[in-house]
Amino acid sequence: MDLPKSARFLVIGAGVHGLSTAYHLACELKARGEGSGADILLVDKAGIAAGASGIACGVVRNNYYQPAMSELMAANVEVWESDPAAYHYNSVGYMALGPTAQESDLTEVAERQEQIGYANTLITGEAACTAYMKDLFPDWRAQGITVVLHEHRGGFAFNIASMHGIAGKAKAEGVRIAEDVRVTGFEMDGAGAVTSVRTNHGDIDVEQVIVGVGPWVPEIWAMLGLPPKIDVRTPAGEVHRERDMWTYWYLQEGEIAVDPLMFDRAGGGAPPVIHVDTDAPLRSDDGRLITEELWGIYYKRDRHGVQGGAAPLPIGSDFDVDPYPTASVEPAFPDMWCAALSHCMGRFEGCRPLYKDARSGGAGAFTADNFPVFDYMRPNVYVIADSNHGYKMIGVGKEVARVVLGEHSSLLYPFRFDRFATGDLHPVSNSPYPWS
Ligand SMILES: Cc1cc2nc3c(=O)[nH]c(=O)nc-3n(C[C@H](O)[C@H](O)[C@H](O)COP(=O)(O)OP(=O)(O)OC[C@H]3O[C@@H](n4cnc5c(N)ncnc54)[C@H](O)[C@@H]3O)c2cc1C
Repeated sequence: MDLPKSARFLVIGAGVHGLSTAYHLACELKARGEGSGADILLVDKAGIAAGASGIACGVVRNNYYQPAMSELMAANVEVWESDPAAYHYNSVGYMALGPTAQESDLTEVAERQEQIGYANTLITGEAACTAYMKDLFPDWRAQGITVVLHEHRGGFAFNIASMHGIAGKAKAEGVRIAEDVRVTGFEMDGAGAVTSVRTNHGDIDVEQVIVGVGPWVPEIWAMLGLPPKIDVRTPAGEVHRERDMWTYWYLQEGEIAVDPLMFDRAGGGAPPVIHVDTDAPLRSDDGRLITEELWGIYYKRDRHGVQGGAAPLPIGSDFDVDPYPTASVEPAFPDMWCAALSHCMGRFEGCRPLYKDARSGGAGAFTADNFPVFDYMRPNVYVIADSNHGYKMIGVGKEVARVVLGEHSSLLYPFRFDRFATGDLHPVSNSPYPWS
């Protein structure tokens, strides 16, 4: 392979973050008259969309309890909306539905969305929620839902197609994307700055490095000599010693093979992405009790059916992410997810035999507080570690592009690494998911 011996900017990883950073950095360099896409080399050990971005359900939502996440998501949605054709983005909206325990969280989220001009409808009270849902979906039948937050923006994008869309835009700006190039180490100077990046195709001298390697981040973190365990100070000042910097979770997702158009709104429009959390007992169509604990699912209309998932499973910190695992959901997942679809809408009754053993589901690497780390971790190495929040975060690369050219990003600042030492952590919600 004819790999350059040096690069002004070396981006590692052709997922949403590496690709978006490369594209936006190329645009910034050109706009400032300070260079072009030709100054950027992006390498991936496999290829475009080979990682989590190519398997993600592709849900794009704003609903986050943490103000910093919500503001960042609004910026991400603007990027998705800026070129829906290239990004294969479907602006169908997003709905979060919950039981009483989530009413106050979702009400706060709705109020903050209004403050930042993010269009939504908030419904509270069981009768009003049922009426709202039946208006959209006449066969709606979930019980015990007392809050509905309907975001009128957001939706979903097609995972692999969207990554090729960003890659196409980056290449058109002159960015070089080299596939099958694996980073194996870093040469550093006395100050800890990376002078050269080792790969299986030779060394590359660099000025700046941007890391966007998704669930492989613990590997690169170790190559950079960064700590596997850290102390975490809570906002109350308590210090938790020696916490794992990285923990893996297994994302549980699947799909049913149905005519996608059977999942439509009353009147035939495209349905929003739906996320339901509830404490109502869950039974299969033949009456078998599946759970009486709080459970949740999400689902959306996809190209070949209906796709979605449920809460992920913890794997722990000791896990080999290679080969990247997909399609091995927990055996109980299909029964649970299909029963949950049927619990919500009559049209899904009897859908269990239509569950498809497709390539879906995969591992995510979560940080010590389950929120992203976006920061310089060496003087010239910027790490984008999204803690598995990030297919939707297409706008992070746009911010990173400005940061690596010397600007401050108030959107990324709350995700700096030193929050673990200072206790400047994000508030925690009542959601059962590690990513809300
Ligand atoms: C099943 C599943 C469903 C998800 N659903 C959603 C969703 O609906 N909405 C949402 O917002 N998020 C979702 N996520 C999370 C989201 O997919 C990830 O947070 C995001 O895609 C990570 O993007 P990335 O660019 O950091 O990494 P990736 O997309 O994983 O890309 C990293 C790339 O780095 C390359 N790489 C790794 N190591 C090296 C190396 N040493 N040298 C060179 N290249 C290397 C890999 O080959 C890979 O192509 C989901 C995740 C999973 C697993």
